[in-house]
Amino acid sequence: YFRSLEQAGILLNKPQLEAVRYGQGPLLTLAGAGCGKTTVLAARAGYLMAVRGVSPSSILLVTFTSKAAAEMKERIAALPDIRPAAARAVQARTFHSFALALLRHQGVTEDIFGDTQAQHTVMKMLLRQLGLSEAYQPESLLAALSAWKAEGRLTHELPENGQEERDAKRVLLAYEDWKKERQKMDFDDILLRASMMLRNPAVLQPLQRRFSYIMVDEFQDTNTLQYEMVRRLAAKHRNLMVVGDDDQTIYTFNGARQESILEFDKVYKDARVITLNINYRSDARILGLGSSIVAKNRKRRAKRLVSAGREGLEPQFFTPSNPEEEAIHVVSHLLRQVEEGIVRYSDIAILHRTASGSRSIFEQLVMRDVPFIQYGAGTVFYDQSLIRPLMDHLRLALNPRRMECMPSALGPLYVPRETGMDYIQREEKKQAKKYPLIHLTRWERLRDFQQEQVKERIKLIKGLAAMAPLLAIQEMRRVFYDKYLESGDPGTWTHYKETLQESLEELETAARRFETVEEFVAFADELSKRHRDMESLRTAADGDAVSLMTIHRAKGLEFPCVYLIGASEGILPHSTALGKEPPEDLLASVTPDSQTDPEQLLEEERRLAYVAVTRAKQLLYITSPAANHGKTAALSRFLLEAYGVKPSAAPGRSEATAERAGAQASSGAQARERKARMITVPVWSCSSSTCSAWIRKDIKQSRYGRTETPAPVESAPACPLCSSVMQAG
Ligand code: ATP
Ligand code: MG
Repeated sequence: YFRSLEQAGILLNKPQLEAVRYGQGPLLTLAGAGCGKTTVLAARAGYLMAVRGVSPSSILLVTFTSKAAAEMKERIAALPDIRPAAARAVQARTFHSFALALLRHQGVTEDIFGDTQAQHTVMKMLLRQLGLSEAYQPESLLAALSAWKAEGRLTHELPENGQEERDAKRVLLAYEDWKKERQKMDFDDILLRASMMLRNPAVLQPLQRRFSYIMVDEFQDTNTLQYEMVRRLAAKHRNLMVVGDDDQTIYTFNGARQESILEFDKVYKDARVITLNINYRSDARILGLGSSIVAKNRKRRAKRLVSAGREGLEPQFFTPSNPEEEAIHVVSHLLRQVEEGIVRYSDIAILHRTASGSRSIFEQLVMRDVPFIQYGAGTVFYDQSLIRPLMDHLRLALNPRRMECMPSALGPLYVPRETGMDYIQREEKKQAKKYPLIHLTRWERLRDFQQEQVKERIKLIKGLAAMAPLLAIQEMRRVFYDKYLESGDPGTWTHYKETLQESLEELETAARRFETVEEFVAFADELSKRHRDMESLRTAADGDAVSLMTIHRAKGLEFPCVYLIGASEGILPHSTALGKEPPEDLLASVTPDSQTDPEQLLEEERRLAYVAVTRAKQLLYITSPAANHGKTAALSRFLLEAYGVKPSAAPGRSEATAERAGAQASSGAQARERKARMITVPVWSCSSSTCSAWIRKDIKQSRYGRTETPAPVESAPACPLCSSVMQAG
């Protein structure tokens, strides 16, 4: 088997071999990024079948995403000596697909209620019925419920300390009733119910007999519920193999518990621990950067990785003045690389920290006809669920008769959208109005105060047209969201609030570029149109497309060329991890420290930076915009730390505002400020006044894993962007 494997190009190293051939009992395979954990899992499944004669259907492989599960199947099918039917029979699944299969097998017939938009609508309706619409946003309640269930707890067990918690619980229980009446279950229910079912020996025992080998990839990101399921399933044979990297725990907000991997060999006292430390993915200097970033974390198992690859090229840095310039730079740079034949589009990934952090780069890619695939969101920023309603109001301001935009104006009025639209259209036929919304003021289904709301809304829309786009957005934010954003709604609930806040800031940044609402709307419409047309562009490119995704989505993947954008304070590390006050009341008693303790949040950000850097095989470009959402943003501390320089304390909120005021008053002062920061870093900066590139000094003698202080090189290099001479500092 191993000889055929070698012929197929996989020459396993010693610890990899040991893991693959490991016989009975619990096994923890711990390894840094790119050391072949996933490779070993697939090879072991093949080994068990081809050499040990284990039946394919008794192997259960659990992976994190359905994409990973599909890839796992492919990898197994490509192994030597495995019949296609056998490869298909291996159970390679995500936790959810495994849980769902179990429920169906047990006769559970409920429909899956997996459409987030629909969930929000239901939640909104329930909030309205209970008179709590002002206090909560549906999204934050759903997120909290999700976190709660990830710990294996039921909704009726939610805490009831204080009025806020009691109200929240009331709504969430109503949500459970709603689903029950309609025979529906959401994704969290699937996991929770399957896990409860496994507590029943009659259900559990046959499964325990069937799955004699259980293997879990990305174990560092399993939550309590998932871990419990695995433990139960493996309790009979105890052939549980988990692979993971504690440095890559990046889903604590979903309930992932790093402890599971850190303490695996305490829970399973007889567990064998195999460490893999040869990285086959990244060139040495890229790995060196990744290792020195994550080395600053305290809560981790120390590792010393070596690269099997070449020393390779130095990661390169660029500090554009803002995300707009960053996007222009990255897209120009990648186009040049493709033109010169250095890479293909599909070799490239652009990674960003937050969902809304891709707005500028997305626009550049679309406007410059670069074929790309955006994983996850996949929609134009202005069409996303949080932003769309605001844009629709602007569209209505320009043309009050745009029917397709009207439902957005109905949403916050608490009018059932469909019936509301039907009514408007019926009345329009009888008598057309300049503002068709006005019909609603005579609709008998609406109460007086609602008719008042309609009038208010029309007044708002009328006013928007004459405003500058930025002011128009700020006005809507004030009317729609400020009450909610300012309400004390702490704990796990804030996660959604941050997203909303961030999306609104991003929208304001986008709006700033335009002078009139008309220009802004025309741009957004053009972008959507071009994005729709891109399908044909991608088809023509025959799958050769750039990948655009969040760092979270990129886990487990690898690319020859990676652009990590937004490596600035406030973005990576994200502002939520910087000096946040621990939340007070709501659910605080049950929220794990990892989601509230600033130090732990910062460590998670550092792990994200590590995951991002270690996706790159040969080329890595990192950009750090000097400002974001109009505020000055310092270079990411993770970069400064990695190069042996202590970052100065992150500016607090008031300081940042002061800095913004200062920056607006004098961009020269801002430049000096940045220069002063930069001087403390051992870098070369470009001497040309029109170019702001900088690179780290060459680290000739460094061996990654020991990259602490890069050694200087004698002669000044040429600027990688404009070829001018670089100067020290
Ligand atoms: P991550 O932590 O990012 O999930 P991983 O540990 O799962 O990484 P893999 O994706 O399995 O790592 O492997 C990384 C790369 O190294 C892959 O391209 C894989 O084919 C290659 N690789 C792994 N082991 C070997 C080996 N023994 N010989 C050659 N290539 C290898
Ligand atoms: Mg992997």
